[in-house]
Amino acid sequence: MSEAVNPFESLQEQIDDAAEYLDFEPGAIERIKHPERVLEANLAVEMDDGEVEVFRAYRSQFNGDRGPYKGGVRYHPNVSRDEVKALSGWMVFKCATVDIPYGGGKGGIVIEPDDYSDAELERITRAFTSAIRPIIGPDRDIPAPDVNTGQREMDWIKDTYETLEDTTAPGVVTGKAIGSGGSAGRVEATGRSVMLASREAFDYLGTDVEGATVAVQGYGNAGSVAARLIDEMGASVVAVSDSQGAIYDPDGLDTEAAKEHKNGTGSVVGFEGAAEEITNEDLLTLDVDLLVPAALENAINYDLAQDVRADVIVEAANGPLTPRADDVLTERDVTVVPDILANAGGVTVSYFEWVQNRQRFSWTEERVNDELERVIVTAFDRLVATHEERGTPNLRIAAYVVAVQRVLEAYGQAGNWP
Ligand code: NAD
Repeated sequence: MSEAVNPFESLQEQIDDAAEYLDFEPGAIERIKHPERVLEANLAVEMDDGEVEVFRAYRSQFNGDRGPYKGGVRYHPNVSRDEVKALSGWMVFKCATVDIPYGGGKGGIVIEPDDYSDAELERITRAFTSAIRPIIGPDRDIPAPDVNTGQREMDWIKDTYETLEDTTAPGVVTGKAIGSGGSAGRVEATGRSVMLASREAFDYLGTDVEGATVAVQGYGNAGSVAARLIDEMGASVVAVSDSQGAIYDPDGLDTEAAKEHKNGTGSVVGFEGAAEEITNEDLLTLDVDLLVPAALENAINYDLAQDVRADVIVEAANGPLTPRADDVLTERDVTVVPDILANAGGVTVSYFEWVQNRQRFSWTEERVNDELERVIVTAFDRLVATHEERGTPNLRIAAYVVAVQRVLEAYGQAGNWP
């Protein structure tokens, strides 16, 4: 069966699904199905050998009704205009689902970062910042890390912006190193919300997370932290994977040791603490209680969804299920906790970082984690209440119902003027 796997079309379908449960004019819905603006840049950067190479880059500002645009910057060869547009839209509805006062944005550079030296990546990041500088700023649009970017890149963006603007503006970017104005708890925040969402989902379903078996696809920032924190709740992480392959042990993996192995060798594959190596597809169809996709979009499509044997899926990645896979899993009664709630810990603690930057005051890690837990649990409860009250087929549509309503209420309150 053919299916739309353009992530931007997936986003638009998700908005349409929610609109059926809401009473807004078609024009208002149409407006939030498209970005307000997309900047496309071609970064001409000198390489270490003296040659100039050109990199295509984007920044999409999807919607700013509820606050400044907010969202990560991705470095990946598959970055495209439509992917960036989709990711920026998901940020809008994510921030609205957890009720933090941001709109949504996203950026990306079409690049395989492993092919470049650190010095080249720094020059590319500074060129990107220079290109997007006219549209970013602590009150306008605030970038953050995403796939293949982290504290280092955020520090480069902040330094470039501050130098060009001749000011100090730590709130121009989040996910910074602590010494540059980062927040305690930010590195762990996405994985932490995945853990909290998993805990709440098991609680809602009346099943015990202790002793539950778990498979995690993608062992980067989001996946490896989620695996460790879920493991600490007493569940058993039996399989993890990265782009090079997957490892499996029915008796449970040592999630920390697997991470150290990946840090040392570049992959979880070859980790001697695992009973066997399996394929990435095997991992997604393992008979586990909980599956956490934490890699990229469209990891589970219509065909694969028929073979998924997990009871619960908690989406750490953005858009890991195609819309048709979603239909199959809803039909098969698999509980899916949607990305716009489950991985919202990243943007929530980014918001806390930005608040601290504005206050020029640091919170303790305990305060950050407590506030994050409150935000995620409140949002989860609202999702479940909406699902039950409105009779939505699944939690994703419930999340979009909550989020679309909040965005359009903000728009309505602002009035419509040319
Ligand atoms: P990352 O670069 O740290 O990790 C990505 C991981 O996925 C890597 O281990 C990579 O090897 C693996 N991977 C790639 N293709 C794979 C495949 N086909 N099969 C198995 N593994 C594969 O990135 P990240 O920051 O952890 O982001 C992962 C996902 O989480 C993305 O969808 C991102 O948008 C989302 N997310 C991240 C954050 C954050 O704060 N980092 C916040 C919200 C959402």
